[in-house]
Amino acid sequence: MPSSELTDATHLETDVLVIGAGGAGMYAALEAARGGASVILADRSLIGRGGATVMAQMTVAAALGEQTPDHWEHHLADTLNAGRGLCDERLAALLCEDGPHRLREMDAWKVGWAREDGHIKQAQAPGHDRPRCAYVDFLSTGPAVSKTLRTQLNNASGIRRIGDLVIVDIAVRDNEACGATAWHLTTGQAVTIAARAVIIATGGLTGLYRRNSASSNMGGDGYALALRAGAELIDMEFVQFFPIGHLAPRLVGMDPIMWDPFRYKLGGKLLNAEMREFEDDYAARDGRSDGTYVLTRDLATYAITKEVEAGRGSPAGGAYLSFRHVPEADIRAAFGPVVDRLLENGIDLAQRAVEVAPIAHYHMGGIRVDDRMQTGVPGLYACGEAVGGANGANRLSGNAITEAFVFGARAGREAALRAKAATAAWSPGAARPALDLLRSASKRDAPNPAAMVVKLQAVMADDVGPFRTDAKLRSAIASIAQLKADIGDTPISSATAFDPVLVDWLDLRNMLQVAQSVAVPALARTESRGAHQRDDHLGLDDAAWRVNQIVTLADGGISLRKVEPTTGKAAS
Ligand SMILES: Cc1cc2nc3c(=O)[nH]c(=O)nc-3n(C[C@H](O)[C@H](O)[C@H](O)COP(=O)(O)OP(=O)(O)OC[C@H]3O[C@@H](n4cnc5c(N)ncnc54)[C@H](O)[C@@H]3O)c2cc1C
Repeated sequence: MPSSELTDATHLETDVLVIGAGGAGMYAALEAARGGASVILADRSLIGRGGATVMAQMTVAAALGEQTPDHWEHHLADTLNAGRGLCDERLAALLCEDGPHRLREMDAWKVGWAREDGHIKQAQAPGHDRPRCAYVDFLSTGPAVSKTLRTQLNNASGIRRIGDLVIVDIAVRDNEACGATAWHLTTGQAVTIAARAVIIATGGLTGLYRRNSASSNMGGDGYALALRAGAELIDMEFVQFFPIGHLAPRLVGMDPIMWDPFRYKLGGKLLNAEMREFEDDYAARDGRSDGTYVLTRDLATYAITKEVEAGRGSPAGGAYLSFRHVPEADIRAAFGPVVDRLLENGIDLAQRAVEVAPIAHYHMGGIRVDDRMQTGVPGLYACGEAVGGANGANRLSGNAITEAFVFGARAGREAALRAKAATAAWSPGAARPALDLLRSASKRDAPNPAAMVVKLQAVMADDVGPFRTDAKLRSAIASIAQLKADIGDTPISSATAFDPVLVDWLDLRNMLQVAQSVAVPALARTESRGAHQRDDHLGLDDAAWRVNQIVTLADGGISLRKVEPTTGKAAS
């Protein structure tokens, strides 16, 4: 249904509602339709063009073994190793075992994986024990993946695509998910959707941070939707910082995290202000030594931050990344059109090093699901980056897009099965709280929510960033509580049909709830593990902390408990 067909007080019905149309949501919609369900695929942006998937330029990890022998169990071993003891082994095994099938399916759908001698080419990425990462040249992986899935959606029947639709809350009746309440951005109307199964595929939360690689839609909506519906979150303290995000000189219209593939292909050198390579100095932290350019993201982030703190940073406050040792012809052969776009930005890699620094990039934590992708709330599923557990405390390069495909497909299949079996649980009362909230919005003198989002991003970057302390985390929790009090419980409205102030308020409400869900378990975890590094608690504490922390909502506040990591294999 085109967005323009939505009218006042619109009510829609479907078997499966998929929230979010990135890689995970599009795959879920396709698979649910293949399972015979009618599907609504809703996104607050354009279908297949919001979120992270379309922005990803690099690699997708799977044990295809086309050029180098491989097996999914080797991929699993690397994933579990990177996860530092916290992976949900069932989810990690699912990701690694099903990954090759999904990549081959995408290949059959003509995604255009780069090839050599007729075989899909696979690059070596940090933390993987062999070349395992497929890609689409030149730095086109995400756009190619999104376009391929959009084309499949065009060819599928039974899937209604609705863009510009912000899901505000999941509708729950008798503790089961039965649909959702939404706000249509272009008409400024509330929409209710009855569904037999609901899938959250809203991506991650890195928009909470000042410097991030995210699109504007990545404020963590899905986590807040799940919490308020009664579901659990897991591993929320583990936010991955991408170590070599572009910092300087100014770069316009290009992905700030594109330097990894340059390093895979050309072996760029990371240098401090003394023009000395320093990564090896940090490789043994936590007793781990990972060798040459296989330093995982958490360690590389640590290394750069510590060099800057020691006064050995680059002028803009990061490290230098240099390709000056690589012959110009090799740079051009590897990245032809990208080299020209860099030159338009005044960057000549053969002549000059760029500056890079850590940037918030991915979230390992998220909604807790079982091996059928169902949350603790019957009828509510989740997939993609919105799910926590598969990657534990740290994610390997390339695992996120595979996770989006694999978990998306599984969630779609399972939701379709439920839709066939379940009777409709919808009642208008299930949407009432969210509708009442929207209707209570008023024009009034209040702090500007967009400005408060910027404040929150500063708090998260300064106090809940890659390196944390008790004092910083307590200060962040207090600041978040103050911001919560400042926005109040009643939405602010600009009282226009297209109501950006209301949408900012709704976003901020979610962001504050999610920020709290990160900061509170981060304060509790008094050790350093993977992406959670405490300057006041160095090193792993396996005796006390080889556990996952579960976040739920209780009496409007965050409640925490510990569980043992899940072992075993998923049911197929
Ligand atoms: C710049 C960048 C580069 C990356 N490169 C790689 C890479 O090379 N390899 C790799 O494995 N991973 C990479 N990642 C990570 C990977 O891209 C993501 O983890 C993955 O694509 C997430 O897919 P997803 O479908 O779960 O979420 P997304 O693709 O983020 O899609 C989520 C969708 O949900 C929508 N949405 C959010 N909230 C709502 C709401 N309330 N109502 C309706 N819709 C909503 C958003 O608009 C968006 O379209 C990269 C990430 C970024 C940001």
